[in-house]
Amino acid sequence: MLLLSGPNMAGNEWKYVKDCLDTGWVSSVGAYVDQFEKMSAEFAGTKYAVATSSGTTALHICLVMMGVNADDYVITPNITFIATCNSIKYTGADPILIDTDPGSWQMDLDLLEQFFEEETEQRNGVCHYKKDGRRIPVLMPVHVLGNICDMDRLMDLAAKNNVTVIEDSTEALGSYYKGKHAGSFGLMGTFSYNGNKIITTGGGGMIVTNDEVLAKKAKHLTTQAKSDPFEYVHDEIGYNYRLVNVAAAMGVAQMEQLPGFIKRKQEVMAFYKNELQGVGDIKFQDVSADVNPNCWLPTIMTEKQKDVLKILNDHKMQSRPFWVPMNQLRMFANNIFYNKSNQSDFVYQRCLSIPCSTNITNEDLKAVCDKIKEVF
Ligand SMILES: *Cc1c(COP(=O)(O)O)cnc(C)c1O
Repeated sequence: MLLLSGPNMAGNEWKYVKDCLDTGWVSSVGAYVDQFEKMSAEFAGTKYAVATSSGTTALHICLVMMGVNADDYVITPNITFIATCNSIKYTGADPILIDTDPGSWQMDLDLLEQFFEEETEQRNGVCHYKKDGRRIPVLMPVHVLGNICDMDRLMDLAAKNNVTVIEDSTEALGSYYKGKHAGSFGLMGTFSYNGNKIITTGGGGMIVTNDEVLAKKAKHLTTQAKSDPFEYVHDEIGYNYRLVNVAAAMGVAQMEQLPGFIKRKQEVMAFYKNELQGVGDIKFQDVSADVNPNCWLPTIMTEKQKDVLKILNDHKMQSRPFWVPMNQLRMFANNIFYNKSNQSDFVYQRCLSIPCSTNITNEDLKAVCDKIKEVF
């Protein structure tokens, strides 16, 4: 089976994990957690990084720290992985879903601007939804598939409308906009180390920020909010959202290989573009010249989506459709979906991701392309 995007454990993973097992430092504290955080902050170009148990819990803690609650909305794209909207719902808040740009597959910034202009108003410097007066404290863009939208414009819109940006940059480790790393634009950004991401710790996540107070608070909240080093005194409701040392050991080994992984993902994308661009109606994601993407998950757009999915999966080449748009899921069907012509559905009906593990061979890439071409 050719995995869609599988783990690549070619480095020091065994060595560092063995070190944890040999020394007994397997659990919630240990040198690898600190080292993984330090490497992550350095890579992202932020001052601080705090490891978490997953990308989802990283997003949740960011929202908790902003005081997001059941009286609030959080703006996010309608096409994203479910974790974004779940993290919003954990706080009691509701997502406001903005439709997708059909070229870049990111949140449509024209619509976002229009939404702010037509649907919101400022009260005492806080953004509110006009119709019911609920607050909109946070804008959570998602860098879908490691691509990045026009961040200058997004940050400008956020500043003008007094909303805080928390980046769901979980797919964008190694992606840059105008030379600046994803996750370092907003007040906070997040990464995920789930098994299919560009690096993995089995499961895990990270919060990055330049704000020292928030970084300390994130560490506190993700470790049960224990306020005394000795006694079990806790000063608020905390969470057990820490990353364990044995997972962080994998993370350190993976970070050492990250530049090579990014290079290989970019090569895989170039290979696919070279072979498939111009075959039938196949299109790739539009990427602006300002963006240097990590090419995490090469994805094609075609009217023949269903046929391509079938032929690839029938031949043990793992291939997956795009996420079902949030507004089409039962839990979010009644949320605000701001759109003019439902481009999310257009994109959803046509996109599929194709095999792209960093250890895939060029022969296998060629075989995938040949199978896809059979459909056309
Ligand atoms: C992977 C991912 C997450 C976080 O996932 P975890 O499995 O919890 O680490 C969040 N948002 C998006 C868009 C993702 O792709």
